[in-house]
Amino acid sequence: MSEGTSDLTQRVEVKFTPKQEQKFLDRVVFNDISGACWDWSGATTKDGHPRIEGRHRAARISYTRYVGMLYEDQRVIHTCRNKRCCKPQHLKAVSVAEAARHSAEGRLAGEHHGRSKLTEAQVQAIRQLYKGRNKGPSQALIAQMVGITQTQVSKIVRNECWRHLDGKG
Ligand SMILES: [Zn+2]
Repeated sequence: MSEGTSDLTQRVEVKFTPKQEQKFLDRVVFNDISGACWDWSGATTKDGHPRIEGRHRAARISYTRYVGMLYEDQRVIHTCRNKRCCKPQHLKAVSVAEAARHSAEGRLAGEHHGRSKLTEAQVQAIRQLYKGRNKGPSQALIAQMVGITQTQVSKIVRNECWRHLDGKG
């Protein structure tokens, strides 16, 4: 953080419109349970973040409403590692660099994917186990082993989700 007098960069405070705030209030699932997240009942982006008017706004709105001032050059991270979470106590305003580090740490630990609780390692293992119809363990057996549904296994082996893992985009 530069305090130098030559630094003329104006930091812009994040502001939301009353309409955006209302969308947040309509979709967030409040609860007082200690340690529990505030879930999101609305739409999410492809990467699993709450979506308001097409963008990741919910955590930022929550932060500015309940925690304090936020600048445009800051990112809000979820310390609970639940992307859907909007609980102010679980949110932290950080620099872009720090947010990137937080995200990388999350990927190493096996990231929450919104739709499933699987870790990347499990997904890779499922893809290795399933060799195709009538070759090796069936999708149903793999589903049972991992504790997920056969539909989820089917999606994983058909690359419908977790596509980012094999680097093909
Ligand atoms: Zn949380």
